[in-house]
Amino acid sequence: MDCVVDGLDNMRTRYLINRVCVKYGVLYIFAGAIGFEGNLAVLIPHETACLECFLPGLDDALLPTCETRGIIDVTPGIIGTIQAMETIKLLAGINSGLRGKLLVCDFVTMDFITIDLKRNLQCKICGEQVKIRKSEHKPRIVILCDSNTVNINPPKPMKVDLEKMQQLLEDNYKLLIKSSFAIAFKYRDDVEVTVFRNGRMLIKNVSDFDDALKIYLSLIRSLSSSIHYML
Ligand SMILES: [Zn+2]
Repeated sequence: MDCVVDGLDNMRTRYLINRVCVKYGVLYIFAGAIGFEGNLAVLIPHETACLECFLPGLDDALLPTCETRGIIDVTPGIIGTIQAMETIKLLAGINSGLRGKLLVCDFVTMDFITIDLKRNLQCKICGEQVKIRKSEHKPRIVILCDSNTVNINPPKPMKVDLEKMQQLLEDNYKLLIKSSFAIAFKYRDDVEVTVFRNGRMLIKNVSDFDDALKIYLSLIRSLSSSIHYML
């Protein structure tokens, strides 16, 4: 597992780092410190908010800097130490309590608060539409006749390791059928998904294309270690 630990002093570079992390699926530990204040967030691409979901469009020219506002050396020291703690935990497989949250520290009052960061599905960096738009090959989607089942063919040839996929699915979903060429499971109460060895997916009981595509993209991401692309 890779991660980026942000020790930057400007938003322009942070936005660049955020975009690269989202693109390549790298954990991003965001932090900032100025005066007697600091903040920090653990951002997981496509799982939590990204930086631009909650701090979009900030112009460095309009923000206070260490030159204009001043900084106490201890402030980045504390924030950097918390960052190091969260990094070690994440790389060691121990969950971070700041996953998808912003920690805001006021070292004058000694108030420490955490704010839940909501993912913006319309985000221009990590939103679902970006993912679909940027895809070179789009999945081919067909609603099967006289049913509410959607068939999705993969965007490019792939081979699914069904044994590995079964292991990944078992913890979170109820398996329905497993054979040498397909695996079926309950995705949620009303929705069943069947994945075939060639990556074709049947999604039962969905209301429309968008719902089916969201489920498909979410599963492709979370099960990626069991999927091998042939091209
Ligand atoms: Zn985002």
